[in-house]
Amino acid sequence: MSLKIIQKRCVSCSLCEQVCPVKAVSMTEDGLPLIDSALCNLCGICIEKCPTGAIVRVHGTLSSQEDFDEYKGVMVIAEEEEGKIAQVSYELVSKGSELASVLKVPVTAVVFDSAQEEDLKNLSVYGADRVIVIKGEILGKPLIGPRSRALYELIRKEKPEIVLTGSTSQGRPLLSRVAVRLKTGLTADCTHLEIEMPDRHLLQTRPAWGGSIMATIMTPNTRPQMATVRPRVMRKKTPDYTKRSEISSFITSPEILTDPVQFLGVIREETSRVRLDNADIIVSGGRGIKSPENFSMIEKLALLLNGAVGSSRPPVDDGWISHSHQVGQTGRTVAPKLYVAIGISGAIQHLVGMQSSDCIVAINKDKDAPIMNVADYAIIGDLFEIVPELIKTLEKKKTG
Ligand SMILES: Cc1cc2nc3c(=O)[nH]c(=O)nc-3n(C[C@H](O)[C@H](O)[C@H](O)COP(=O)(O)OP(=O)(O)OC[C@H]3O[C@@H](n4cnc5c(N)ncnc54)[C@H](O)[C@@H]3O)c2cc1C
Repeated sequence: MSLKIIQKRCVSCSLCEQVCPVKAVSMTEDGLPLIDSALCNLCGICIEKCPTGAIVRVHGTLSSQEDFDEYKGVMVIAEEEEGKIAQVSYELVSKGSELASVLKVPVTAVVFDSAQEEDLKNLSVYGADRVIVIKGEILGKPLIGPRSRALYELIRKEKPEIVLTGSTSQGRPLLSRVAVRLKTGLTADCTHLEIEMPDRHLLQTRPAWGGSIMATIMTPNTRPQMATVRPRVMRKKTPDYTKRSEISSFITSPEILTDPVQFLGVIREETSRVRLDNADIIVSGGRGIKSPENFSMIEKLALLLNGAVGSSRPPVDDGWISHSHQVGQTGRTVAPKLYVAIGISGAIQHLVGMQSSDCIVAINKDKDAPIMNVADYAIIGDLFEIVPELIKTLEKKKTG
């Protein structure tokens, strides 16, 4: 590893020379810093202090670190779910176009070779200026090896400054492998993204320390800047049905597509319940429900409201309900129109998974429970009286 000066960025302030503890930096007659690699111990103080980001660390000879200015544009890697582009991809194309308008660059959506024509059009409707289909029959299958190698090749060619994908079982392993190959930074599980101008840094915010703080992370020394984002955190923008984007193909070298792993198929969890991911209404139960038998009350209320059943972590840990129903930091992130939290205190690890719901109703006997800070409506009292009463009223309504 060594340090490199990006000449276009240097303003000859000589701060690097002043702060270097081992006197490895001297200013040349041209007003540019010269780093003596024999003295430099790579402590990085000059990188931190440089006001224009003109000093970067260089790993080997990778072009991704050579010159930031070559890297332009926002790239969103779309993913499929049951043969359709997943909602999270439209959310990210929408967010990507917002970031791109600050940077004044285009947004490119990338899909693997299985997407339908209609879906490619939808990506432009939500903001993609270009759509690139990575061709190769095997890429239509969710195999991480060939997909990550093909994506690496595309990124090396296109040089986007930002790459985003969903923080999902497809997106997480894919982007982490590509980031390692590119020797660049990746922030997983982001809940907020913003651009810092004029340096064009992507500020990547995510919960840290068990969700007790929100950390904002930057990738100041390498490009591209990569992040995975939780589904349902970013809002889809209003579709523009008049927008048409350029659709092109990228053909990878065939040798990178061979893989020892064989794709056999997808086995879905069998459930008669509405799935959390796309539910407009979620009724969630917590430890306050007290027993697995009582959880049927939550299921009944969810059924009457045509909603999905959610849960805080304790009922999952105690085996009352499967993990696919857990909402929160180590469960799913949801943002339904209505979220009913019953016997849930509102620990930060639960809140990060549901606080962007449109309307939150909390049923709890403790008026000071933290869930009250995010609730739009609070029903204070014993859930064993309130929930049966709600069920009775809804049943009466249903039967006319
Ligand atoms: C790394 C890490 C990750 C985590 N991830 C998650 C996660 O993804 N999701 C998650 O939910 N948690 C998660 N947790 C656990 C989290 O910290 C809390 O312990 C958990 O959310 C508490 O669940 P709860 O609100 O159901 O239980 P409690 O905090 O015990 O709250 C029970 C509530 O029920 C109310 N209540 C009791 N009886 C009644 C009654 N008869 N009528 C009305 N109200 C009643 C009480 O007033 C209380 O507010 C995580 C923790 C860690 C450390």
